[in-house]
Amino acid sequence: MDSATRRVYSENFKELKAALSPEDAAVEANRCLWCYDAPCAKACPTHIDVPRFIKQIASGNLIGSAKTILEANALGHSCARACPVEVLCEGACVYHAWQERPIEIARLQRRATDHLHLNGADAVFKPAPANGRKAAVIGAGPAGLSCAAYLRRLGFAVTLYDREKTPGGLNTRGIAEYKMTQRVSLDEVHRLLGLGIEIKLGKEIGGDIPAGKLLSDFDAVFLGCGLGATRKLGIPGEGLRGVWDALSFIRFVKERNLKPLGKSRVTVVLGGGNTAVDAVTQSKRIGAERVMLAYRRGREEMGAYDFEVELAKSDGAEFLWNAAPTRILGKTKVEGIEFCRTQVRQGRVVSVPGSKFKLACDRVIKAVGQEKDRSLAEALGLQTESDGRIKADPETLATSNPQVFAGGDAVNGGAEVVNAAADGKRAAWAIWRRLNPGLPPPPGNDYWVSTIEGRLVAPIPERETGNGKRETVTTGE
Ligand SMILES: Cc1cc2nc3c(=O)[nH]c(=O)nc-3n(C[C@H](O)[C@H](O)[C@H](O)COP(=O)(O)OP(=O)(O)OC[C@H]3O[C@@H](n4cnc5c(N)ncnc54)[C@H](O)[C@@H]3O)c2cc1C
Ligand code: SF4
Repeated sequence: MDSATRRVYSENFKELKAALSPEDAAVEANRCLWCYDAPCAKACPTHIDVPRFIKQIASGNLIGSAKTILEANALGHSCARACPVEVLCEGACVYHAWQERPIEIARLQRRATDHLHLNGADAVFKPAPANGRKAAVIGAGPAGLSCAAYLRRLGFAVTLYDREKTPGGLNTRGIAEYKMTQRVSLDEVHRLLGLGIEIKLGKEIGGDIPAGKLLSDFDAVFLGCGLGATRKLGIPGEGLRGVWDALSFIRFVKERNLKPLGKSRVTVVLGGGNTAVDAVTQSKRIGAERVMLAYRRGREEMGAYDFEVELAKSDGAEFLWNAAPTRILGKTKVEGIEFCRTQVRQGRVVSVPGSKFKLACDRVIKAVGQEKDRSLAEALGLQTESDGRIKADPETLATSNPQVFAGGDAVNGGAEVVNAAADGKRAAWAIWRRLNPGLPPPPGNDYWVSTIEGRLVAPIPERETGNGKRETVTTGE
């Protein structure tokens, strides 16, 4: 990395939410009311026992706190950075009822898992003794990693495949660097692989290895293969130099490899979701002078979270509503873009006649959603939804082939890391139940299974410390 790039990252890609100091964490943990039937825990798709882990931080039991988090969410380390907590746990915190600042759950979670990662992360959980069954997991993103980790805890021999050379899926290649660095994602992967997961990178199922082979070689298969490439616009000029799809653009930014992107004075980002807003913010931060987000509907219909839009605004981004691209202009490289004005009538976007206008720009980033990748579903003969998502039972995540389970973006069409992590956990438990009907899980697995079966939030166990005080203990201790 040259010195200019290094400066860009050290100045513009600082973490949005810095780590809490031990003192600040103690103060924040003691603000928590440790609510009974806590709404924050219910709002988390993995049902982390938030009051319990916060109480453990308050009593100085950081390793126990991390265990509580990771029991419910094997990807709790990355979720502490990536989760849109404003609309999940922190959004549900009871402090909102008094118009007060909610508890900083994510930063407390990070305090516990950071501590664990610095102090013997590999010793947290052990796999159960081998149960004699083998499972294949396709995709080393959040869904696949979560499923693989819980399958190991149930005693399965697990082989995890990914077509990329680096594991982590979008956690490693998609989450904006100022929320979570690649290092954090890879440290988490390393900890999970420590459970004894065999990983095969650079292996595409359906390409390097026939999908059907997995059905004969393994007792169960989990598909955590995510979504496909960015959708095409289908307009003239899409092949010009300087037109990027958002995923490739963000990947280069995350890999700190800015050379292939070149420089931009004016960038136009097309789309209205979180990925579009991420592309805008990152374009600004790598040095584009002007960055404009253009969306074919109005502000109120944008899929992006308000706090992400505010971040882009505070970085100086401009917004163009009700504008649909009709042509990208230029001979060999982008010189501008032509739009027409739009109106939304009965939910449909229609162009306003005679409303075309042009903007000069030198980079266009397409962030108009990802296609569904039907290839694995087709190769395995699985049913899909009409939009191409893999069809899976909402409770067990079993597909139309009872040997195959699926979760994460490939099933929900694109949600958050925490949803993928929750799916992986539920699928692991469903695979156990299918292969061992009526059998309880091996010892040491009751707690996380209870987070799936709704028997959540047992009373926080306490023990005497010998000096007249009591401290909380956690599952597995
Ligand atoms: C730009 C962007 C920013 C995002 N930001 C956030 C955020 O800030 N917070 C948040 O919570 N969520 C965010 N998300 C969403 C989040 O990243 C996803 O919901 C999550 O990663 C889904 O996990 P997954 O495991 O289902 O899929 P992925 O993370 O996509 O992982 C799928 C893996 O499967 C592999 N694979 C696919 N097909 C095959 C095959 N045939 N053979 C072998 N391997 C295969 C892929 O290489 C990939 O590694 C973002 C998404 C994007 C696109
Ligand atoms: S809702 Fe807020 S105060 Fe109550 S347990 Fe959760 S974080 Fe603590």
